[in-house]
Amino acid sequence: MLDGFPQTLRSTAALLRAGLIGPDEAEALAELEQLYAVAVPPAFQALIEAPYDPIARQVVPHADELITAPHEIGDPTADAAHSPLPGLVHRYPDRVLIKPLLICPLYCRFCFRREQVGPDGGLLSEAQLAPVLDYIRARPAIREVILTGGDPLMLSPRRLAGLLSALDAIPHVDQTRIHTRVPVADPDRVHGVLAALRTDKPLYMAVHANHAREFSPAAAGALRALAAAGVVLLGQSVLLRGVNDSVTALEALFRAMLRHRMKPYYLHQLDPAPGTARFHVPQAEGLALVAALRGRLTGLGIPAYVREQQGGAGKLPVTP
Ligand SMILES: *Cc1c(COP(=O)(O)O)cnc(C)c1O
Ligand code: SF4
Repeated sequence: MLDGFPQTLRSTAALLRAGLIGPDEAEALAELEQLYAVAVPPAFQALIEAPYDPIARQVVPHADELITAPHEIGDPTADAAHSPLPGLVHRYPDRVLIKPLLICPLYCRFCFRREQVGPDGGLLSEAQLAPVLDYIRARPAIREVILTGGDPLMLSPRRLAGLLSALDAIPHVDQTRIHTRVPVADPDRVHGVLAALRTDKPLYMAVHANHAREFSPAAAGALRALAAAGVVLLGQSVLLRGVNDSVTALEALFRAMLRHRMKPYYLHQLDPAPGTARFHVPQAEGLALVAALRGRLTGLGIPAYVREQQGGAGKLPVTP
């Protein structure tokens, strides 16, 4: 429906021109635009079949985001409390997160870091990265480094290669993991960073995707290239009202992941970030959905259903 809009849409005006929002919504969204970043890249525009369909709903802002429900909080995973240095989160003894930048190829309307991520953002300088690497080098208990953000595949290939090779050279780091949405959100970008991903140690990549339609032919090509480069592919999803809150949608999503060489790893319960209530699916409903999948989907396709504990105590399986 969006021929003629090959650019990433980044403003209310651009969304209006593309027909993704109506004129009556534009006023409320102009206010919202000041609070949370917007980006709808061409790859997602091409997948949208109707306003606020399961693809559009993930990336097109909605006036409901101006409402913060009573249980919603900033920084729901309490990263700040576990951050010994800028860009570093150390919550579990054996692994750390590095956030090398806060830019993403698109901005999910349900993002748990929505108050931090954005296009002007948070690129760690070499001077900030150096102490982060020293921190890891000095702690042999750290066996895994997870690059997240923002989206690490939005780094320049040179920066990404530099960071990955510095991590590769730390003897006690067994593997690196990248959390990214680029293979589905901007698949062509993958080919430019492929050379940077050729590490000596295992590189795991958890690709964030929430709907089977995200696996376009271009995404398929990107995932195939990643697998051929030796990257171990995992899938991560968030359970989202209006996107994947049915047994058929989840089954299609996890089957699409398996077809594209990804092992579904986590299905996340939505974190209560501000203005995300329209995506909330109660845990009891989530448990029933996951239970229903058991009978009809290969065990390979079933991720762990997890939630973040309040106050940053870490992930827990969702149980009855
Ligand atoms: C989610 C998370 C991890 C990774 O946890 P896994 O269960 O190993 O995927 C690591 N550190 C922090 C702070 C996290 O939030
Ligand atoms: S890609 Fe991840 S970090 Fe970026 S907006 Fe989406 S959920 Fe947030």
